[in-house]
Amino acid sequence: MADGDRAKMIDGFASVQAVRRRRPKGADPKYAPTRTRLPAPRKPAGGAKAPPVAHAARTALPPRYDILCYACAYRFTHTGRMPETVLCPKCREALQTKAYTLDGPWSEPIATVGTVTVAVGAALGAVRIVASKVRIAADPGEAEIVCQDLELTGNAAPGLARLSFRDLLVAPEGRCVFTQKLACRKAAVLGRLKARLEAEESLTVGAGATFQGEARTPRLILEDGARLSARLAIVPGGGAVEKPAGKPDGEKRPTPARRARGGRGKKKVAGDQ
Ligand SMILES: [Zn+2]
Repeated sequence: MADGDRAKMIDGFASVQAVRRRRPKGADPKYAPTRTRLPAPRKPAGGAKAPPVAHAARTALPPRYDILCYACAYRFTHTGRMPETVLCPKCREALQTKAYTLDGPWSEPIATVGTVTVAVGAALGAVRIVASKVRIAADPGEAEIVCQDLELTGNAAPGLARLSFRDLLVAPEGRCVFTQKLACRKAAVLGRLKARLEAEESLTVGAGATFQGEARTPRLILEDGARLSARLAIVPGGGAVEKPAGKPDGEKRPTPARRARGGRGKKKVAGDQ
């Protein structure tokens, strides 16, 4: 009995081996199994439908660029390859798309919808830099920086720079200390940041990242292992954050002194008549 069972088992095993031997792995590299896992088709509609799957896995969408016109502050999307200049559909300005890496003395203003990198060795004068994205890896000196995305890498301590931006990212290698108050839409800290920060939408402190200082935001996201040593105000709607498009509007509000003067003047006039 036992002999008969064993014989059967061996038969089954041997047959599997035989099937394997008949179909060697990777016989045709062109049709090697893909690593891409797609949901299994609901109904096997006859025949092997491998080619469409492979085609779908290889399809690449054309790149899309979110562009803010530096001439008129109009926001639009450019799809496809980025030419040297792109025309603003509103003001018809030919916008430069050049990317800059500043790693030496620089004193000319820059306006581009590309990326500007302030690299180690940069010595910037009091220049105005308007770009889509600015990456700061070294001290930007007294530059005025206006951008959509500000990325801080390395030991940037932009104490004198005037910064106006929409979203802030402190890269994992970023070690930044700000003395001026920062206002933005979203802030993500993956390295270390010490600052007074107002984030209109959210503040994220990543795993292993450190945030110190003060923060005012409607959403605080702390990832596992994030370090936080700050005064927090979690307020719905966030703080009043100025628009990142350009001019700081801090001086627009009338000062209490001006208001008081205006009030007194009116009263005096009313009293005289
Ligand atoms: Zn424009």
